Amino acid sequence: MQIDVFTIMIASCVAIFLFGGALLFFWNQDRASHWLAWWVAPFLMGGLGVALIIPRGLILDLISIGLANALLFGAFGFVWQGARVFGGRQPLLVPVLITALGWMGLTQLPFFMENMSVRVVTYSLVTASFTGLAAWELWRDRAEHLPSRIPAVAVLASFAVTLCFRVLVVEMAPFPVGALPVRSNWVGGFNALVFAHVGFFAMLIISLTKERREAEQRKFALLDPLTGLMNRRAFMGQVERSARRRKYGHEPLTLLVLDLDHFKSVNDRFGHHAGDRVLVAFAAAAEACIRPTDQLYRMGGEEFCFILPDTALPEALAIAERIRRTFAGNLVRVGDQHAATTVSIGVATTDHAGFDLEILLAAADAAVYEAKARGRNRVVVAEPTALRHAAPLSEIGERKRA
Ligand code: GH3
Ligand code: MG
Ligand code: MG
Repeated sequence: MQIDVFTIMIASCVAIFLFGGALLFFWNQDRASHWLAWWVAPFLMGGLGVALIIPRGLILDLISIGLANALLFGAFGFVWQGARVFGGRQPLLVPVLITALGWMGLTQLPFFMENMSVRVVTYSLVTASFTGLAAWELWRDRAEHLPSRIPAVAVLASFAVTLCFRVLVVEMAPFPVGALPVRSNWVGGFNALVFAHVGFFAMLIISLTKERREAEQRKFALLDPLTGLMNRRAFMGQVERSARRRKYGHEPLTLLVLDLDHFKSVNDRFGHHAGDRVLVAFAAAAEACIRPTDQLYRMGGEEFCFILPDTALPEALAIAERIRRTFAGNLVRVGDQHAATTVSIGVATTDHAGFDLEILLAAADAAVYEAKARGRNRVVVAEPTALRHAAPLSEIGERKRA
């Protein structure tokens, strides 16, 4: 089978422009994804570079060798910059500019223009380095889980290897000289491989962007916009995960349910906006009293909940007391007055494996009511009976027999 280099290059050139156009379209729909704009550039520059290579021999070498490859350097350099911007980093334009201008400078040297092998080696090493750097940029942010990230790293890494591979076959498959179609399977195959990588990468850019947006939406759905805390939906998700993890474990687990006292009167006296500020102040005060492993949730209105993993009752009580005291001394200024409010806290703890967190929550809730009944601004531990109802059936049976 013969692969016509010319046909492949013209088809690649058209397709590269189309990919660039598609990315431009997506960027126009979602301007906040500015990395898309950075990744449009390689397709436009690359398409133009390939378009200038095709008529080699018919136009000035300065253009079809000098400018064309300088544009391709820019294209690969911008693949790297797009990856940096995708990772939230500043683009580094100087190395890209230096290599592109350096290439233009080298093409002024007769030795360089007469020696195609040196040119191919230079070209391959620079482009492979930029592609490798792009792969590394995406790889180092792998903590952000996106399904297309590893495929994108793989495509870029394979692209870099392919570009290096050109160095190895330079003697076997010299680049076609002149604009006449040269029937070389090696060069045709190499170009087809390059084109396949470009196409794959364009698709992965779009999926990476979509996946990031979806992940953000999922995260937003779990956040309370006022306080920035996790919301009830996030809490329910955590309950499910905990239930699975705790099937066999016996480590203690404690829940705190916190409800602000007479909060309605804060709204009535100072207005809803001041009430909002009190809620934010409470979230900040409560978070300052806990450990990084403890998670605070806003369950709705002025009700909050802490999940304290690996925490037995005495330690949980100390934390609850700390929150209560901190908040009681924390006045929110409204004009020339202060909105003072307190919090009532219910505590429920268990070290039963397989314990139902929802029942633990109900027990802590009951303890909050008890705290309200006893005059508010206090910490109350859930009645053991509330928890006994919730103990696994086998244990209730054992207790009855005892
Ligand atoms: P108690 O001490 O018995 O808990 O009394 P309370 O007034 O705190 O409780 P109640 O449940 O009667 O009132 C809760 C109030 O919280 C009523 C509601 O308007 C207010 N609230 C709920 N969500 C928000 C919010 O996001 N912002 C503000 N400012 N107020 C809210
Ligand atoms: Mg309340
Ligand atoms: Mg309430």
